[in-house]
Amino acid sequence: MTDISAPSGVKELMGKYDLRCRKRLGQNFLVDANIVNKIISSASLERDDVVVEIGPGLGVITRAAASGARLVVSVELDRVLLPALEETLQGFDNIHIVAGDAMDTDFDSLVQSEANYSGPYKLIANLPYYITTPLIMRLLLNRFNISLCVIMVQNEVAERITALPGGKEYGSLSVAVQYFTEARYLFKVPRTVFIPRPEVDSAVILLARRERPPVEVPDEDFFFRVVRGAFGQRRKTLLNALSATFDSISRERMKDLLQGSGIDPGRRGETLGLEEFAGVTKAIYGELPQPHCIE
Ligand code: SAM
Repeated sequence: MTDISAPSGVKELMGKYDLRCRKRLGQNFLVDANIVNKIISSASLERDDVVVEIGPGLGVITRAAASGARLVVSVELDRVLLPALEETLQGFDNIHIVAGDAMDTDFDSLVQSEANYSGPYKLIANLPYYITTPLIMRLLLNRFNISLCVIMVQNEVAERITALPGGKEYGSLSVAVQYFTEARYLFKVPRTVFIPRPEVDSAVILLARRERPPVEVPDEDFFFRVVRGAFGQRRKTLLNALSATFDSISRERMKDLLQGSGIDPGRRGETLGLEEFAGVTKAIYGELPQPHCIE
C-alpha cells in the first residue's frame, strides 16, 4: 500500500494515475504524518462522530479521520482524483466520497442522506486556498449543523480569523467568525510539508460553534453592515467611516450616537470589540426607518 503521508508515496501515486497538481483548485497535498495526526487529535474524535471533509485530495486526512469516527463524508470537486482515492481508501467501509463543489453543497442534507443522521457533525479540512474565506463564511452564515471545525488555512488568514481588537490583523473576518464561533489558532504548518510547495505557510485553527452569539444585536445583517463599514476604510476614524456608510445620518448625529454608546468617535474600527460593535449597531439601527411589519 502506497504511503501517501510521505512525499515519495504521493509522487508514486501521481505518476501511476498520471495526475498533475491543479493550482487552480488549490491542490497542495499534505505529506507529513505528524501534522495529519495533530489535525485529527485536535478534532477530539469520538467513535460515533460523523465527519465531513472538504477536499480529500489523495485521502491522507480522510483515512486518519475514518480511523477515529463512525463515518467520514468527503466532498471532492476534482473527479480526476477519484480513481487514485479509490486505491488509497481501500479497506475502509466508513468513508463516502462525494463528487461535488463545497461552495454549493448543503452539508446538512448531505450528512442526512449519506449517514442517515441529522445531529451535529465535525468538519475537518485542509482547505483549498482560493476559496478559504468565502467557504468559511458560507459554512457560518448557512448555520450548518457543524459543532466543530478543524481546518488548515493560510497562516495569514488564521491570524486574521483569531485576531483580537487592536492589532493590524483584526478586521471584519475576525468579528464575523468570532460572532459565530470560539476561534483558536492551534499551530503553524510550514510550507515545506506540501507537494507542491505553496508560497506561504499555513496554520490549523479550531472553530467551536457557540450555542448563542456572545452579543445581542437587533439584526445580524445590519450588524455585519456596521462592521464592514467600520473596517471599510481602515485609516478613517469611526465617525468618518460610519458617516460614509450611513449617509442618511448627519455627521453630528452620528457623533452623538457613538458618544451615547460610550465610544469615542475618533477611535478606529480595529479597536472595537464585539460588545462595542453591538452597542454601535443598536444605536444606528434605532435611528434608521425600519421596514413596516404586517401582522
Ligand atoms: N486533503 C488533501 C490533503 O490534505 O493533502 C488535499 C488538500 S488540497 C489543499 C485541497 C483539496 O480540495 C484538493 O483535493 C482540491 O481538488 C479540493 N477542492 C478544491 N476546490 C474544491 C471545492 N470547491 N469543493 C470541494 N473540493 C475542492
